[in-house]
Amino acid sequence: MSFESLGLEADLLRAVREQGYDTPTPIQAQAIPAVLSGRDLMAGAQTGTGKTAGFTLPMLQRLAENPAPRRRRGVRALVLAPTRELAAQVHDSVLAYGKHKNLRSAVVFGGVNIRPQMNRLRDGVDVLVACPGRLLDHVQQGTVDLSGVEILVLDEADRMLDMGFIHDIRRVVKLLPPTGERQTLLFSATFSNEIKALAAGMLHRPDTIEAPGTNRTADRIAQRVIAVDKSRKRELLSHLAGANRWEQVLVFSRTKHGANRLAKQLSSDGLEAAAIHGNKSQGARTRALADFKAGKVRVLVATDIAARGLDIEQLPHVVNFDLPNVAEDYVHRIGRTGRAGREGEALSLVSADERGLLKDIERLVGLDLTPEVLEGYEPSKAAEKAARQAENGQGKPKPRGGRAGRHARRRKQAARQGNGIGTGNGRDRGNGAGKNRGQGRGKGSGNGKSGQQANGGRQTESQRSGGQSGNRADGRTRGKSRRGGSGLANRILGPE
Ligand code: AMP
Repeated sequence: MSFESLGLEADLLRAVREQGYDTPTPIQAQAIPAVLSGRDLMAGAQTGTGKTAGFTLPMLQRLAENPAPRRRRGVRALVLAPTRELAAQVHDSVLAYGKHKNLRSAVVFGGVNIRPQMNRLRDGVDVLVACPGRLLDHVQQGTVDLSGVEILVLDEADRMLDMGFIHDIRRVVKLLPPTGERQTLLFSATFSNEIKALAAGMLHRPDTIEAPGTNRTADRIAQRVIAVDKSRKRELLSHLAGANRWEQVLVFSRTKHGANRLAKQLSSDGLEAAAIHGNKSQGARTRALADFKAGKVRVLVATDIAARGLDIEQLPHVVNFDLPNVAEDYVHRIGRTGRAGREGEALSLVSADERGLLKDIERLVGLDLTPEVLEGYEPSKAAEKAARQAENGQGKPKPRGGRAGRHARRRKQAARQGNGIGTGNGRDRGNGAGKNRGQGRGKGSGNGKSGQQANGGRQTESQRSGGQSGNRADGRTRGKSRRGGSGLANRILGPE
């Protein structure tokens, strides 16, 4: 299969050659003729499959074949993308593939000055790549006219819905020519009922295509899962990055705060690290990404939203520091490596409280992801016990009276007095920074029982973010008990 055989014209073939592509990827082989036919299209493809060229090349060809007078503030093809990074990347592709075509394009997203965008839109564009929120800002200000859109592309539609853009999308679509009078292309890595409902209202008798492995993880990505206590993940990550001389690793954290904290800790471990998430300014995000690409930053710690659009050539390692709450995000995350046919490794550090999430992921990707246990990082028995109890629904904090209560109070008192014997009082467990713990010096064992109530009634991160481990115990133990129980994690985390 060659690009020539797909019906692309000479200028575009030249641009493709200049990108160094010899062979179309499977999604390109299917999408290019489908889009050229002018029909609507619903395509199952995750990032890394080459989907951007799959819709951009034929879209540019169709625009060039049917030249239309450029209307003031008009747009001929509109590509909606969920994140700024993805929008910028898609626009880069439009520029690269359209290099030998006389087409005008623009990209608009929030977090940057709107003025230059307005100026760019004034004389109209052939292609506009946009994030929904900023596009609606332009609509409100009357600086863009969408009534003449010939082609609409929804890129990473599932992600746009995850991010709450559904209403924005519907508002945008109302401003376009009706279904049937425009061509609509919808790309999504997953097909939930919500996506199908969106598609049903927006697409007219679409062709449907699916890249091999949609909802599945790419074969070329080696996936490893390591069972480890939550409190030791950072230590293990530093160790693996150092021992294996990882030069470029993208690490996923579930929360923005967690991403910041981890980047700081890794930097103090001597690993150059930066965080990228939605609370950072666009400038900071662009800088962090540029430093990471240039090799100045070895570890980029990202949240899901920030990472969705990142396209980093030959990214060799992705680490899930926390498993995502939504299994589909695992597919997106690890799709950051092994891109466009290259090899990659995706590593997940899984603590006992995340086993439910791991099961969801196994179910989604159809793989057995039984965790390994690394010598010196074996999960603690306490974590196993607490996780089992949480799973059996026995983990609700019980009122503590009588002897058990007295013991617990005594342990707490001892901990306050600083003798390092107490087991996990709420505060220590909550912040995971108990000194004794990390250094294996203390005597006590973070036992499961106190683990259930160890956070002293405060919400854990996973509770706040909708996780399922209401009674999780973080399994933070110290000294000997941490090292016991080889093979434990297979019992804790292995598929049932
Ligand atoms: P995408 O899934 O569109 O984000 O593309 C992922 C990566 O694959 C990008 O870095 C593209 O430059 C690259 N790519 C796209 N098509 C091809 C191709 N036919 N051959 C090799 N690399 C490609």
